[in-house]
Amino acid sequence: MVKSSTISKAIAIAFVTLTICAIGGIITMVIFYKTQIATMNPTPRPTIAVTTPAPPPVMRLPKNLVPERYELFLQPHLYTQIIQEVNVTSPNQTMLFTGNSTVHFRCVQKTDTIYLHSVDLTLSGQMVIDKDRNRRIGVSSMRNFENGSNFLEINLVDNMEEGGNYSLFLAFKGEISENLQGLYVSHYVEGHPVDEDDTSPNRFLVATNLQPADARRVFPCFDEPEMKAEFDVTIIHRRDTTALGNSGRSESNIIDEEWKYTRFYRTPKMSTYLFAFTVSRFESVLSPHGRVEIRTFARPEAIKAGHAQYAASVTGKILSYYEQHFGINYQQKKLDQIALPDLAPAAMENWGLITYEQGSLLFEEGVSSLLLKEWIVTIIAHELAHQWFGNLVTMKWWNEVWLNEGFATYMANFAMNHVEPSFKMKEAYILGDLHTAFEEDALATSHPLSLPQDEVQDIDEMAMVFDGITYSKGASVLRMLADVVDQPVFDKGIRTYLDEFRLKNTDRNDLWESIQRAVDDDSGHTDVAKVMDLWTTQIGYPVITINTTSGEIYQKHFLFNATSESSLWWHIPIRVMSDKSEPDLLWLDTPDTVKKDEFISKKGEWILANVNCTGYYRVNYNPENWERLQYQLLTNPERIPLMNRGQLIDDAFNLARAKLVDVTLALNSTRFLRNETEYLPWESAVRNMKYIVRMFDRSEVYGPMQEYFREQVKVLYKYFKNETDHSTVPKEHSLQHSQIIAVQVACSNGLPECTAMATELFSKWMNSNDSTNSFPPH
Ligand SMILES: [Zn+2]
Repeated sequence: MVKSSTISKAIAIAFVTLTICAIGGIITMVIFYKTQIATMNPTPRPTIAVTTPAPPPVMRLPKNLVPERYELFLQPHLYTQIIQEVNVTSPNQTMLFTGNSTVHFRCVQKTDTIYLHSVDLTLSGQMVIDKDRNRRIGVSSMRNFENGSNFLEINLVDNMEEGGNYSLFLAFKGEISENLQGLYVSHYVEGHPVDEDDTSPNRFLVATNLQPADARRVFPCFDEPEMKAEFDVTIIHRRDTTALGNSGRSESNIIDEEWKYTRFYRTPKMSTYLFAFTVSRFESVLSPHGRVEIRTFARPEAIKAGHAQYAASVTGKILSYYEQHFGINYQQKKLDQIALPDLAPAAMENWGLITYEQGSLLFEEGVSSLLLKEWIVTIIAHELAHQWFGNLVTMKWWNEVWLNEGFATYMANFAMNHVEPSFKMKEAYILGDLHTAFEEDALATSHPLSLPQDEVQDIDEMAMVFDGITYSKGASVLRMLADVVDQPVFDKGIRTYLDEFRLKNTDRNDLWESIQRAVDDDSGHTDVAKVMDLWTTQIGYPVITINTTSGEIYQKHFLFNATSESSLWWHIPIRVMSDKSEPDLLWLDTPDTVKKDEFISKKGEWILANVNCTGYYRVNYNPENWERLQYQLLTNPERIPLMNRGQLIDDAFNLARAKLVDVTLALNSTRFLRNETEYLPWESAVRNMKYIVRMFDRSEVYGPMQEYFREQVKVLYKYFKNETDHSTVPKEHSLQHSQIIAVQVACSNGLPECTAMATELFSKWMNSNDSTNSFPPH
């Protein structure tokens, strides 16, 4: 090992010396990079002794009982405020909740045992009724499994017959959690405390967060996504609070001095993980929409200050956009969204009651960063897309949750572009989704989008599939499919899918079949399942290598560390153009090297593959073509589509990281930035350079790298200098990103103008009378 590393170091330095003339300013950086990287010998992983594990417990409910409807009464006993009065024994906060449920179900296979889910609930009063004969069936025993299955097993003295209708009643009590799981408490402060000990402004509320499998913590239920049912819900709550549920309020009355109840209309047939309710003293603001009542709830102070206005102003538009795009109306008469002080993840798409962590929904005009609007509109667009993809049509099991998350992520881009076209977020897709997916999916530890069902069994395994692969790769392969079959055909296919499977559950084959029908109607030739299954059932993605001299092209599984040869291959659609021809679609559908005339550069022209990055793969070329592309970027970058300007940088750096091209090529791919003012290529470069900075911070590479970037950023910095010096931002929203990156790159690499500007602003602020809250001025 030592020997070969010394040789590679020598070759590296020799090679770098040879290319001095070609690359000029970045030469020193490359030498140091090579020297540093040659000294990095990763320690091999320790081998772990293999032991034979015990057989895993059964984690899935039997399918012999089918739930149809729940009647639920829920009563959280929590106080929203603790009032302390002198000489009066003030109430202690209570975390208790109580309730009862009657689940009506059908028996499809004779059995004398009911299995459902329950966790951390104290159960009593069990009663099973044979509804057809109107008689009670005795319960002989009941036990809660403690093996991770969370099964509640109820044994009966008599059989339930196939085709029969039954109900199960259970009373229960549990504890409101403090860890954002199940039914949980959230805290906030209203007004200002008088002193440190003053607890009077403290406020409390309860909310639910049940995905993927925490409904069983709130009431005993058949807690699997395919076990859809309707819900008749009544919440009993303190008189000074408001209860919200999945559907609209049908009735609300006072019970006694302390309590009132709110009853809700029956919900659509839905999965248990989408069940939700909240009890709080929040207030709301309305959004305009013709048919649906849309309310945005938040802390009263936030509503009064108008912080929910931005969210309210876009929500109705996004809902209308989807209704029109999918050709199916939102299924309920009301849609509430609520800004909770505590929630993880950022938001949850509960049908009719979307919960958000408040930082992802509230916008404070004049204080919040303007770019926060992008995040808010992204999250709302994502959660609203789920009202169709996930809520109306749900994946059969968590192994294919990408059918929910990939679609919501993909569709959000269209809705955002519709309501905020000036944000120009469609092109930023490659930074948000494609690069996230590429990064995670280039590791040997990645997972396929569609996992085998038995690999996602327990709650930990379910939680683990909510990752960048599911969201971002899911969105990316859908985008690729839409490009291959044509957007209007794809859109028609998903309308069929949503219509045919409404209120039902699907797997990926149902999606492929719906899109196939649209393709066939359009006289298309794509075999959707054949193409897409390789992208969804295999891990990773390919890099294609094109030789523009011979026209040869082949594919290879792209991995950062290819320890063993991978035999995976894909059906790859390739949009290709040259400086003499417009984009065309070709296919590489074999693991072998093939020759295609379209990839031959006949008159020295460059060839560019994966135009607009619609494909989920990286591209490598012969050195001559890389040079031609880079020359084009340096002389007339506009000829290369914007997304590809960012992608060429990202591909080059990642190919270098996987040791498929020399790092010199990667660094060369940033040379054109000298005259680039668009955000996307810059951001792509900055992110990739971060990897190099992380590895070589405080090493000899760092100095030359800073010098290089000081040179590169000069034009971009100058472009915004006037605004930056006056602490203002460009009017055009999308340019604000470019300004931020100009300041970020210039100041972090020590561009004198930037350092001077920052120093001056800082001293002005230090000398100002009000240095506590007015920096920077805006
Ligand atoms: Zn989602």
